[in-house]
Amino acid sequence: MRCDDLLAFDREHLWHPYSSTTQPLPTYAVERAQGVEITLTDDRVLIDGMSSWWAALHGYNHPVLNAAAHAQLEKMSHIMFGGLTHQSAVELGQLLLKILPEKLNKIFYADSGSVAVEVAMKMALQYFQAQGKSDKCHFATIRSGYHGDTWHAMSVCDPVTGMHSIFGQRLPVQYFLPQPRSRFDAAFDEQDLAPLKNLLERHGDDIAALILEPVVQGAGGMYFYSPHFLTHAKALCAAHDVLLIFDEIATGFGRTGKLFALEHADVVPDIICLGKALTGGYMTLSATITTTQVASTICSGEAHCFMHGPTFMANPLACAVAAASIKLLLSSDWQGKVRSIEAQLKRELAPAGSWPCVQEVRVLGAIGVIEMKSAVDMARLQKRFVEKGIWVRPFGKLVYLMPPFIITPAQLSQLTSALLQALREEYFA
Ligand SMILES: *Cc1c(COP(=O)(O)O)cnc(C)c1O
Repeated sequence: MRCDDLLAFDREHLWHPYSSTTQPLPTYAVERAQGVEITLTDDRVLIDGMSSWWAALHGYNHPVLNAAAHAQLEKMSHIMFGGLTHQSAVELGQLLLKILPEKLNKIFYADSGSVAVEVAMKMALQYFQAQGKSDKCHFATIRSGYHGDTWHAMSVCDPVTGMHSIFGQRLPVQYFLPQPRSRFDAAFDEQDLAPLKNLLERHGDDIAALILEPVVQGAGGMYFYSPHFLTHAKALCAAHDVLLIFDEIATGFGRTGKLFALEHADVVPDIICLGKALTGGYMTLSATITTTQVASTICSGEAHCFMHGPTFMANPLACAVAAASIKLLLSSDWQGKVRSIEAQLKRELAPAGSWPCVQEVRVLGAIGVIEMKSAVDMARLQKRFVEKGIWVRPFGKLVYLMPPFIITPAQLSQLTSALLQALREEYFA
Protein backbone atom coordinates (compact mmCIF):
# COMPACT_ATOMS: atom_id res chain seq x y z
CA MET A 1 0.00 0.00 0.00
CA ARG A 2 1.29 3.45 -0.82
CA CYS A 3 2.06 5.60 2.20
CA ASP A 4 -0.32 8.33 0.99
CA ASP A 5 -3.23 5.87 0.61
CA LEU A 6 -2.55 4.44 4.03
CA LEU A 7 -2.55 7.85 5.68
CA ALA A 8 -5.63 8.95 3.73
CA PHE A 9 -7.66 5.97 4.97
CA ASP A 10 -6.37 6.43 8.49
CA ARG A 11 -7.30 10.09 8.48
CA GLU A 12 -10.81 9.33 7.21
CA HIS A 13 -11.71 6.27 9.29
CA LEU A 14 -9.46 5.50 12.25
CA TRP A 15 -9.70 7.05 15.69
CA HIS A 16 -6.42 7.64 17.50
CA PRO A 17 -6.03 8.26 21.26
CA TYR A 18 -7.85 11.47 22.17
CA SER A 19 -8.33 12.41 18.55
CA SER A 20 -10.76 14.40 16.44
CA THR A 21 -12.29 12.96 13.26
CA THR A 22 -12.98 16.42 11.88
CA GLN A 23 -9.64 18.07 12.67
CA PRO A 24 -7.21 15.18 12.95
CA LEU A 25 -3.62 15.96 13.91
CA PRO A 26 -0.86 14.58 11.67
CA THR A 27 0.00 10.92 12.14
CA TYR A 28 3.09 9.12 10.87
CA ALA A 29 2.99 5.65 9.31
CA VAL A 30 5.39 3.09 10.76
CA GLU A 31 6.82 0.33 8.58
CA ARG A 32 8.71 -1.53 11.31
CA ALA A 33 10.62 -1.05 14.54
CA GLN A 34 13.84 -2.66 15.68
CA GLY A 35 15.73 -2.05 18.92
CA VAL A 36 15.21 1.65 19.68
CA GLU A 37 14.64 2.60 16.04
CA ILE A 38 11.27 3.22 14.45
CA THR A 39 11.31 3.14 10.64
CA LEU A 40 8.56 5.12 8.90
CA THR A 41 7.04 3.99 5.59
CA ASP A 42 8.92 6.84 3.90
CA ASP A 43 12.18 5.26 5.19
CA ARG A 44 12.90 7.92 7.79
CA VAL A 45 14.36 6.38 10.98
CA LEU A 46 13.43 7.78 14.40
CA ILE A 47 15.03 7.09 17.78
CA ASP A 48 12.29 6.13 20.19
CA GLY A 49 12.03 8.32 23.29
CA MET A 50 8.67 6.97 24.48
CA SER A 51 8.95 3.17 24.80
CA SER A 52 5.42 3.22 23.33
CA TRP A 53 4.11 4.77 26.56
CA TRP A 54 6.29 3.15 29.25
CA ALA A 55 5.99 -0.33 27.74
CA ALA A 56 8.82 -1.34 25.39
CA LEU A 57 11.62 -1.83 27.95
CA HIS A 58 13.72 -4.05 25.72
CA GLY A 59 13.07 -2.11 22.52
CA TYR A 60 11.20 -3.53 19.53
CA ASN A 61 11.42 -6.83 17.69
CA HIS A 62 13.54 -8.50 20.37
CA PRO A 63 14.70 -12.01 19.39
CA VAL A 64 14.02 -13.48 22.86
CA LEU A 65 10.47 -12.10 23.06
CA ASN A 66 9.81 -13.06 19.44
CA ALA A 67 10.92 -16.62 20.23
CA ALA A 68 8.61 -16.79 23.25
CA ALA A 69 5.68 -15.61 21.13
CA HIS A 70 6.48 -18.10 18.35
CA ALA A 71 6.81 -21.02 20.77
CA GLN A 72 3.48 -20.20 22.42
CA LEU A 73 1.80 -19.67 19.04
CA GLU A 74 2.75 -23.22 18.03
CA LYS A 75 0.92 -24.55 21.12
CA MET A 76 -2.08 -22.20 21.24
CA SER A 77 -2.46 -18.44 21.07
CA HIS A 78 -5.51 -18.47 23.32
CA ILE A 79 -7.60 -20.74 25.44
CA MET A 80 -10.37 -19.73 27.83
CA PHE A 81 -9.31 -19.36 31.49
CA GLY A 82 -12.66 -20.49 32.89
CA GLY A 83 -11.97 -24.00 34.17
CA LEU A 84 -8.67 -24.28 32.26
CA THR A 85 -5.13 -23.19 33.05
CA HIS A 86 -1.78 -23.34 31.27
CA GLN A 87 1.94 -23.23 31.75
CA SER A 88 2.44 -19.59 30.63
CA ALA A 89 -0.06 -18.27 33.19
CA VAL A 90 1.61 -20.30 35.95
CA GLU A 91 5.15 -19.41 34.95
CA LEU A 92 4.31 -15.71 34.81
CA GLY A 93 2.60 -16.00 38.20
CA GLN A 94 5.68 -17.63 39.71
CA LEU A 95 7.89 -14.84 38.35
CA LEU A 96 5.56 -12.13 39.69
CA LEU A 97 5.54 -13.71 43.16
CA LYS A 98 9.34 -13.85 43.07
CA ILE A 99 9.69 -10.10 42.44
CA LEU A 100 6.74 -8.67 44.40
CA PRO A 101 6.50 -8.25 48.18
CA GLU A 102 5.67 -11.62 49.76
CA LYS A 103 2.24 -10.58 51.03
CA LEU A 104 0.95 -9.88 47.50
CA ASN A 105 0.20 -13.39 46.30
CA LYS A 106 -3.27 -13.65 44.71
CA ILE A 107 -3.07 -12.71 41.04
CA PHE A 108 -5.91 -11.62 38.77
CA TYR A 109 -4.91 -11.31 35.09
CA ALA A 110 -6.81 -8.72 33.06
CA ASP A 111 -6.55 -7.17 29.63
CA SER A 112 -5.41 -3.58 30.07
CA GLY A 113 -4.27 -1.12 32.69
CA SER A 114 -7.68 0.51 33.00
CA VAL A 115 -9.31 -2.86 33.57
CA ALA A 116 -6.70 -3.74 36.21
CA VAL A 117 -7.73 -0.55 38.03
CA GLU A 118 -11.44 -1.42 37.71
CA VAL A 119 -10.63 -4.86 39.11
CA ALA A 120 -8.74 -3.35 42.07
CA MET A 121 -11.66 -1.03 42.85
CA LYS A 122 -14.17 -3.87 42.61
CA MET A 123 -11.98 -5.95 44.92
CA ALA A 124 -12.02 -3.14 47.49
CA LEU A 125 -15.83 -2.87 47.33
CA GLN A 126 -16.38 -6.61 47.60
CA TYR A 127 -13.90 -6.76 50.50
CA PHE A 128 -15.97 -4.38 52.60
CA GLN A 129 -19.32 -5.69 51.42
CA ALA A 130 -18.29 -9.15 52.62
CA GLN A 131 -17.80 -7.67 56.09
CA GLY A 132 -21.19 -5.96 56.11
CA LYS A 133 -19.56 -2.54 55.64
CA SER A 134 -21.23 -1.59 52.37
CA ASP A 135 -21.06 2.12 53.28
CA LYS A 136 -17.36 1.89 52.56
CA CYS A 137 -17.82 2.34 48.82
CA HIS A 138 -15.97 5.57 47.94
CA PHE A 139 -12.39 6.11 46.88
CA ALA A 140 -9.79 8.70 47.77
CA THR A 141 -6.84 9.78 45.68
CA ILE A 142 -4.47 12.69 45.15
CA ARG A 143 -4.82 15.28 42.43
CA SER A 144 -2.95 15.06 39.11
CA GLY A 145 -3.25 11.29 39.02
CA TYR A 146 -4.01 9.13 36.00
CA HIS A 147 -5.54 5.68 36.38
CA GLY A 148 -7.08 4.94 32.99
CA ASP A 149 -9.98 5.80 30.71
CA THR A 150 -12.74 3.38 31.76
CA TRP A 151 -15.54 4.57 34.03
CA HIS A 152 -14.31 4.08 37.58
CA ALA A 153 -10.66 4.44 36.61
CA MET A 154 -11.61 7.82 35.12
CA SER A 155 -13.42 8.77 38.34
CA VAL A 156 -10.09 8.74 40.23
CA CYS A 157 -8.14 10.60 37.53
CA ASP A 158 -7.40 14.25 38.17
CA PRO A 159 -10.74 16.08 38.11
CA VAL A 160 -9.36 18.96 36.01
CA THR A 161 -7.27 17.17 33.38
CA GLY A 162 -9.10 13.86 33.71
CA MET A 163 -12.28 14.54 31.75
CA HIS A 164 -14.50 15.31 34.75
CA SER A 165 -15.80 18.45 33.07
CA ILE A 166 -17.40 16.27 30.41
CA PHE A 167 -18.28 13.11 32.32
CA GLY A 168 -18.18 14.47 35.87
CA GLN A 169 -21.89 14.44 36.58
CA ARG A 170 -22.10 10.79 35.63
CA LEU A 171 -19.08 9.71 37.66
CA PRO A 172 -19.27 8.32 41.20
CA VAL A 173 -18.16 11.01 43.66
CA GLN A 174 -14.61 10.51 44.87
CA TYR A 175 -12.44 12.36 47.37
CA PHE A 176 -9.54 14.36 45.95
CA LEU A 177 -6.59 15.33 48.13
CA PRO A 178 -3.91 17.84 47.15
CA GLN A 179 -0.81 16.48 45.49
CA PRO A 180 1.99 16.08 48.11
CA ARG A 181 4.25 19.13 47.79
CA SER A 182 7.32 17.30 49.15
CA ARG A 183 9.48 16.36 46.21
CA PHE A 184 11.12 12.99 45.71
CA ASP A 185 14.57 14.01 46.95
CA ALA A 186 13.58 16.76 49.38
CA ALA A 187 12.88 16.63 53.10
CA PHE A 188 9.35 15.49 53.90
CA ASP A 189 6.95 18.19 55.07
CA GLU A 190 4.43 16.72 57.55
CA GLN A 191 1.90 19.29 56.30
CA ASP A 192 1.44 17.06 53.26
CA LEU A 193 -0.39 14.57 55.49
CA ALA A 194 -2.94 16.92 57.02
CA PRO A 195 -5.55 16.65 54.22
CA LEU A 196 -5.40 12.84 54.26
CA LYS A 197 -5.64 12.76 58.07
CA ASN A 198 -8.66 15.07 58.02
CA LEU A 199 -10.38 13.16 55.28
CA LEU A 200 -9.95 9.79 56.98
CA GLU A 201 -11.12 11.18 60.32
CA ARG A 202 -14.27 12.66 58.79
CA HIS A 203 -15.06 10.13 56.07
CA GLY A 204 -13.07 6.97 56.91
CA ASP A 205 -16.36 5.11 57.37
CA ASP A 206 -17.40 5.55 53.77
CA ILE A 207 -14.03 5.14 52.06
CA ALA A 208 -13.03 1.73 50.71
CA ALA A 209 -9.57 2.56 49.45
CA LEU A 210 -6.93 5.17 48.76
CA ILE A 211 -5.54 4.72 45.25
CA LEU A 212 -2.16 6.21 44.32
CA GLU A 213 0.54 6.01 41.71
CA PRO A 214 3.49 5.56 44.10
CA VAL A 215 6.30 8.17 43.82
CA VAL A 216 5.77 8.99 40.12
CA GLN A 217 2.52 10.40 38.78
CA GLY A 218 2.57 9.65 35.07
CA ALA A 219 0.11 10.91 32.48
CA GLY A 220 -1.51 13.27 35.02
CA GLY A 221 1.59 15.47 35.32
CA MET A 222 4.91 13.56 35.31
CA TYR A 223 5.50 14.56 38.94
CA PHE A 224 7.84 12.88 41.45
CA TYR A 225 6.87 13.07 45.13
CA SER A 226 8.33 11.95 48.43
CA PRO A 227 8.21 8.23 49.28
CA HIS A 228 7.62 9.27 52.92
CA PHE A 229 4.10 10.26 51.93
CA LEU A 230 3.45 6.60 51.11
CA THR A 231 4.83 5.33 54.42
CA HIS A 232 2.53 7.67 56.36
CA ALA A 233 -0.42 7.03 54.05
CA LYS A 234 -0.09 3.29 54.67
CA ALA A 235 -0.22 3.81 58.45
CA LEU A 236 -3.18 6.21 58.24
CA CYS A 237 -5.12 3.85 55.96
CA ALA A 238 -4.46 0.91 58.26
CA ALA A 239 -5.68 2.93 61.27
CA HIS A 240 -8.95 3.77 59.49
CA ASP A 241 -9.61 0.37 57.92
CA VAL A 242 -9.06 1.75 54.40
CA LEU A 243 -7.30 -0.34 51.76
CA LEU A 244 -4.27 1.02 49.94
CA ILE A 245 -4.10 0.44 46.17
CA PHE A 246 -0.86 1.14 44.32
CA ASP A 247 -1.22 1.70 40.59
CA GLU A 248 2.22 0.68 39.29
CA ILE A 249 1.04 0.34 35.70
CA ALA A 250 3.54 3.01 34.61
CA THR A 251 6.20 2.67 37.33
CA GLY A 252 6.53 -1.13 37.43
CA PHE A 253 9.49 -3.06 36.00
CA GLY A 254 12.38 -0.76 36.76
CA ARG A 255 11.41 2.58 35.24
CA THR A 256 12.01 4.59 38.46
CA GLY A 257 15.29 2.84 39.31
CA LYS A 258 13.62 0.23 41.55
CA LEU A 259 11.85 -2.82 40.17
CA PHE A 260 8.65 -1.40 41.68
CA ALA A 261 8.25 2.18 42.91
CA LEU A 262 6.91 0.91 46.25
CA GLU A 263 10.49 -0.15 47.05
CA HIS A 264 11.47 3.53 47.39
CA ALA A 265 9.20 3.62 50.45
CA ASP A 266 9.33 -0.01 51.51
CA VAL A 267 5.53 0.01 51.75
CA VAL A 268 3.36 -2.98 50.82
CA PRO A 269 -0.11 -2.00 49.59
CA ASP A 270 -3.17 -4.23 49.90
CA ILE A 271 -3.60 -4.30 46.12
CA ILE A 272 -1.21 -3.52 43.27
CA CYS A 273 -1.98 -2.97 39.57
CA LEU A 274 0.55 -3.83 36.87
CA GLY A 275 0.34 -3.33 33.10
CA LYS A 276 2.19 -1.44 30.36
CA ALA A 277 5.75 -2.92 30.58
CA LEU A 278 4.44 -6.29 31.85
CA THR A 279 4.81 -7.82 28.36
CA GLY A 280 7.80 -5.66 27.43
CA GLY A 281 5.39 -3.69 25.25
CA TYR A 282 4.50 -6.64 23.02
CA MET A 283 0.77 -6.84 23.68
CA THR A 284 -1.85 -5.88 26.14
CA LEU A 285 -1.94 -7.64 29.51
CA SER A 286 -2.36 -6.45 33.07
CA ALA A 287 -2.49 -7.96 36.53
CA THR A 288 -4.12 -6.97 39.80
CA ILE A 289 -2.49 -8.65 42.75
CA THR A 290 -3.71 -8.71 46.34
CA THR A 291 -3.10 -10.39 49.69
CA THR A 292 -4.47 -13.69 50.97
CA GLN A 293 -6.38 -11.72 53.60
CA VAL A 294 -8.18 -9.48 51.09
CA ALA A 295 -8.85 -12.37 48.71
CA SER A 296 -10.21 -14.67 51.44
CA THR A 297 -12.45 -11.95 52.79
CA ILE A 298 -13.87 -11.25 49.31
CA CYS A 299 -14.60 -14.94 48.85
CA SER A 300 -16.32 -15.21 52.24
CA GLY A 301 -18.95 -12.71 51.06
CA GLU A 302 -22.37 -13.17 49.57
CA ALA A 303 -21.08 -13.98 46.06
CA HIS A 304 -18.48 -16.50 47.38
CA CYS A 305 -16.19 -15.41 44.56
CA PHE A 306 -14.66 -12.37 42.95
CA MET A 307 -17.11 -11.07 40.36
CA HIS A 308 -14.98 -10.47 37.29
CA GLY A 309 -13.80 -12.61 34.37
CA PRO A 310 -12.66 -11.18 31.03
CA THR A 311 -12.95 -13.33 27.87
CA PHE A 312 -9.24 -13.04 27.16
CA MET A 313 -8.15 -13.47 30.79
CA ALA A 314 -4.56 -14.81 31.08
CA ASN A 315 -4.16 -14.88 27.29
CA PRO A 316 -1.37 -17.46 26.79
CA LEU A 317 0.45 -15.48 24.11
CA ALA A 318 0.60 -12.40 26.34
CA CYS A 319 1.56 -14.44 29.44
CA ALA A 320 4.35 -16.24 27.55
CA VAL A 321 5.85 -12.99 26.32
CA ALA A 322 5.44 -11.38 29.76
CA ALA A 323 7.30 -14.25 31.42
CA ALA A 324 10.08 -13.98 28.83
CA SER A 325 10.23 -10.20 29.29
CA ILE A 326 10.59 -10.45 33.07
CA LYS A 327 13.30 -13.11 32.78
CA LEU A 328 15.12 -10.97 30.22
CA LEU A 329 14.90 -7.94 32.51
CA LEU A 330 16.12 -9.83 35.59
CA SER A 331 19.03 -11.38 33.70
CA SER A 332 20.17 -7.96 32.45
CA ASP A 333 21.97 -5.26 34.42
CA TRP A 334 18.81 -3.15 34.32
CA GLN A 335 19.74 -1.23 37.49
CA GLY A 336 23.05 -0.19 35.97
CA LYS A 337 21.32 0.75 32.72
CA VAL A 338 18.62 2.83 34.43
CA ARG A 339 21.23 4.52 36.64
CA SER A 340 23.33 5.52 33.66
CA ILE A 341 20.27 6.69 31.67
CA GLU A 342 19.31 8.79 34.73
CA ALA A 343 22.77 10.36 35.01
CA GLN A 344 22.90 11.10 31.28
CA LEU A 345 19.38 12.57 31.19
CA LYS A 346 20.25 14.81 34.16
CA ARG A 347 23.42 16.00 32.48
CA GLU A 348 22.05 16.48 28.99
CA LEU A 349 18.64 18.01 29.79
CA ALA A 350 20.04 20.39 32.43
CA PRO A 351 20.79 23.29 30.00
CA ALA A 352 17.04 23.70 29.35
CA GLY A 353 16.49 24.38 33.06
CA SER A 354 17.64 27.99 32.67
CA TRP A 355 15.54 28.82 29.60
CA PRO A 356 12.81 31.42 30.16
CA CYS A 357 10.15 29.16 28.53
CA VAL A 358 10.95 26.27 30.89
CA GLN A 359 9.38 25.89 34.31
CA GLU A 360 11.48 22.96 35.47
CA VAL A 361 13.61 20.05 34.37
CA ARG A 362 13.34 16.86 36.45
CA VAL A 363 14.72 13.37 36.11
CA LEU A 364 14.08 10.14 38.01
CA GLY A 365 15.28 6.75 36.85
CA ALA A 366 14.76 6.43 33.10
CA ILE A 367 12.27 9.32 33.02
CA GLY A 368 13.30 12.82 31.94
CA VAL A 369 10.80 15.67 32.02
CA ILE A 370 10.95 19.23 30.73
CA GLU A 371 7.96 21.12 32.09
CA MET A 372 7.31 24.22 29.97
CA LYS A 373 5.66 27.37 31.33
CA SER A 374 2.75 27.00 28.93
CA ALA A 375 1.20 24.24 26.83
CA VAL A 376 3.16 23.32 23.73
CA ASP A 377 1.81 23.20 20.17
CA MET A 378 2.02 19.44 20.00
CA ALA A 379 1.56 18.93 16.27
CA ARG A 380 4.14 21.57 15.35
CA LEU A 381 6.69 20.40 17.90
CA GLN A 382 6.16 16.78 16.93
CA LYS A 383 6.91 17.64 13.30
CA ARG A 384 10.18 19.25 14.36
CA PHE A 385 11.08 16.14 16.39
CA VAL A 386 10.38 13.82 13.45
CA GLU A 387 12.42 16.03 11.12
CA LYS A 388 15.31 15.66 13.56
CA GLY A 389 14.95 11.88 13.70
CA ILE A 390 13.40 11.34 17.14
CA TRP A 391 10.02 10.09 18.37
CA VAL A 392 8.81 12.17 21.32
CA ARG A 393 5.17 12.93 22.07
CA PRO A 394 4.60 15.87 24.40
CA PHE A 395 1.30 16.62 26.12
CA GLY A 396 0.14 19.87 27.69
CA LYS A 397 3.18 21.61 29.18
CA LEU A 398 5.18 18.40 29.37
CA VAL A 399 7.92 17.31 27.00
CA TYR A 400 9.37 14.09 28.32
CA LEU A 401 11.54 11.10 27.54
CA MET A 402 11.28 7.52 28.75
CA PRO A 403 13.46 5.54 26.36
CA PRO A 404 13.78 1.75 26.20
CA PHE A 405 16.41 0.56 28.71
CA ILE A 406 18.53 -0.85 25.85
CA ILE A 407 19.25 2.60 24.41
CA THR A 408 22.99 3.23 23.99
CA PRO A 409 24.64 6.39 25.39
CA ALA A 410 25.19 7.61 21.81
CA GLN A 411 21.53 7.08 20.88
CA LEU A 412 20.40 8.80 24.08
CA SER A 413 22.65 11.78 23.29
CA GLN A 414 21.10 11.96 19.83
CA LEU A 415 17.67 11.95 21.46
CA THR A 416 18.43 14.68 24.00
CA SER A 417 20.33 16.93 21.62
CA ALA A 418 17.63 16.73 18.93
CA LEU A 419 15.01 17.40 21.61
CA LEU A 420 16.77 20.52 22.90
CA GLN A 421 17.52 21.72 19.38
CA ALA A 422 13.85 21.39 18.37
CA LEU A 423 12.77 23.31 21.47
CA ARG A 424 15.35 26.03 20.78
CA GLU A 425 14.02 26.46 17.25
CA GLU A 426 10.43 26.48 18.49
CA TYR A 427 11.02 29.09 21.20
CA PHE A 428 14.10 31.10 20.23
CA ALA A 429 14.10 31.17 16.42
C1 LIG B 1 -1.54 3.91 31.32
C2 LIG B 1 -2.01 3.86 32.72
C3 LIG B 1 -3.23 3.28 33.06
C4 LIG B 1 -4.20 2.75 32.03
O1 LIG B 1 -3.67 1.68 31.31
P1 LIG B 1 -4.32 1.29 29.87
O2 LIG B 1 -3.57 0.05 29.49
O3 LIG B 1 -4.06 2.45 28.97
O4 LIG B 1 -5.76 1.04 30.10
C5 LIG B 1 -3.58 3.24 34.39
N1 LIG B 1 -2.76 3.74 35.35
C6 LIG B 1 -1.57 4.28 35.06
C7 LIG B 1 -0.69 4.79 36.16
C8 LIG B 1 -1.15 4.38 33.74
O5 LIG B 1 0.03 4.96 33.44
